Amino acid sequence: MAEKRTTGEWQALDRAHHMHPFTDSKTLAARGTRVITRAEGVYVYDNEGNKILDGMAGLWCVAVGYGRRELVDAATRQLLDLPYYNSFFQTSTPTQIELAQKLSELTPPGLKHFFFANSGSEANDTIIRLARLYWSLMGKPNKRTFIGRTWGYHGSTVAASSLGGMPAMHTQDGKNLPEFAHISHPHWYLRGGDLSREEFGIQAARELETKILELGPENVAAFIGEPVQGAGGVIDPPMTYWPEIQRICRKYDVLLVADEVICGFGRLGHWFGSEMYDIKPDFMPMAKGLSSGYLPIAASAIHERIFEVINDKAGMVHHGYTYSGHPAACAVALANIELIKKEEIIERVRHDTAPYFRKAMEQVTNGHPIVGELRGVGLLAGFQLVKDKAKRTVFAPEQEVGIRCREFATQNNLIMRPLGQSTVVLSPPLVISHSEIDELADKVKRSLDATAKLFG
Ligand code: PLP
Repeated sequence: MAEKRTTGEWQALDRAHHMHPFTDSKTLAARGTRVITRAEGVYVYDNEGNKILDGMAGLWCVAVGYGRRELVDAATRQLLDLPYYNSFFQTSTPTQIELAQKLSELTPPGLKHFFFANSGSEANDTIIRLARLYWSLMGKPNKRTFIGRTWGYHGSTVAASSLGGMPAMHTQDGKNLPEFAHISHPHWYLRGGDLSREEFGIQAARELETKILELGPENVAAFIGEPVQGAGGVIDPPMTYWPEIQRICRKYDVLLVADEVICGFGRLGHWFGSEMYDIKPDFMPMAKGLSSGYLPIAASAIHERIFEVINDKAGMVHHGYTYSGHPAACAVALANIELIKKEEIIERVRHDTAPYFRKAMEQVTNGHPIVGELRGVGLLAGFQLVKDKAKRTVFAPEQEVGIRCREFATQNNLIMRPLGQSTVVLSPPLVISHSEIDELADKVKRSLDATAKLFG
């Protein structure tokens, strides 16, 4: 347990020694960090005792909400029995085996094998290595390039940031790794012009064909996309998009990777986004909702036809992490899955909470002066902030409209995030109730109203 300190004391220590992820340290030093000390249900509490509605479920991950005894007990039991053992060199532990088996029942057909990691980034790095290995074993060693999308996010390691299409990450790195290419994100509102959503979906997917032909199909290993782009600003594609992507991948013998790190485990009202969009992936990374964030764990699902080739021909696969399949993290993931099933959380999201959430957000945004588009599926929402609705023009990045909106949200004791182009997003815990959605809607409205006033 950490000691009790005043917020000022925490802030001074934090400033002195702690480097934060995705943070401007000068701004942090000037304003001081917000110290979160405990959480319950859909609320987190800071060191000052403020009760804050967590509209982001942590970082899209706390699916079952905070303070769930079942997950804590599962971790405690496992830590007492066997706090750690690895799965290298012909060893295994029961919770790893059970979790892999459980995932094979839940994931789309053909995904029968699971490689464990600690984060979504590592799960994607694993897939890059395994896909290249597969093609090499198939006698096509030049099939190495991965195609991702602008504003796609697949993690923060060197490889995963090249795989993603976040402009600021690429700029800061100076140079992307070779053998990673990108096509545009399927954002109809800003890019669709006069096309209907459905027509735009086909057009956006066909960029993949153009890119494959430009690179040469003999050089392309895989295409990766999130069923709904999360960190890019909650971009849900037209329903025509994924079938066309799938057709193109099959035509050119390009593997299809559905990154389910955000969409998996009920966020869209289905176990996986692939179910909703009828995607048949060859690889599927998952993390976040897998353990509801209580302990870090991720998995890469591998289609049996790929696994069989690796199994038959590779011999030792030189890949793995010390904490691959950490027994306690696996125990928590198993308890989390059991809870999701027992409480029928996904069915509730699909048939009840998500429609209620959508209606509440529509009431807030319909006719709102600064919101051009409300996007989202399930319990994901993206609010497109625009300067000019008729022309669909967004604010310039240096105007930091999303950051201002987040600051208003913070004043209202609500966590929401600025992401993508002039967008703020929500991704609350899946267990949020109707009355908590009403409170959320009220806080979102006040934050958007204040933003509109500032930029009006
Ligand atoms: N993939 C997607 C779709 C994500 O949203 C994220 C993180 O937000 C990642 C991968 C990376 O996961 P991690 O932060 O656990 O490395």
